[in-house]
Amino acid sequence: MGKRLGIIGSMEFDWNNIDTVLLDMDGTLLDLHFDSHFWLEYMPRVWATRNGYPLEDARIKLMSMLDQHAGTLNWYCVDYWSEALGLDIMQLKEQVAEKIAYRPTAKTFLQRCKHECNDIRMVTNAHRKVLELKILKTNIDQYFDQLLCSHELGYPKENSEFWHQLNDNKAYDPQRTLFIDDSEAVLESAARHGIKHIYSIASPDSSMKRRAPSRFEMLDRLA
Ligand SMILES: [Mg+2]
Repeated sequence: MGKRLGIIGSMEFDWNNIDTVLLDMDGTLLDLHFDSHFWLEYMPRVWATRNGYPLEDARIKLMSMLDQHAGTLNWYCVDYWSEALGLDIMQLKEQVAEKIAYRPTAKTFLQRCKHECNDIRMVTNAHRKVLELKILKTNIDQYFDQLLCSHELGYPKENSEFWHQLNDNKAYDPQRTLFIDDSEAVLESAARHGIKHIYSIASPDSSMKRRAPSRFEMLDRLA
């Protein structure tokens, strides 16, 4: 078989070496701006107004509540936050859903993946309800063979158990797997599991600078 070369970041690679492509959604394929706007701006404002808190206090309180659940499924769980904050999180997300958008070149990259590989899985920590809303706005499901929410596998991607569950769900060879995500904790978790081709994202959110560097190669554009 001849080489099927692709370029990702500054590296040329051969699609013949890849059997499985695992892709994160938010911050990788879709602009993280929707999510950061929602959690850092919109939600604190609504929560402050409903409870009569000063906005800055609401923001600080909310951030400290979120911090307590970092890296766990609760952090990503709309049901948990609806209950904890007394707000209908999905209804609020729908109110700002016009901000849901692809990152530049993401669609071109997805088309290329679909052309080159028969096992493309979305692996997201997003709750299924949020995934459904994003599909409604972007039709992103058309590019994937499988859409996996970590809630349904029982562990977030940060947890090594996630990668075992993913393999139990459908076996994959970590040595022949390409994985792209914008979370350093998640990438570290994938690397510990032995996934060979790992990339990070240089600017997950189009409206702000990336907060921290990555030890993995950072992609500016996907295609
Ligand atoms: Mg992400």
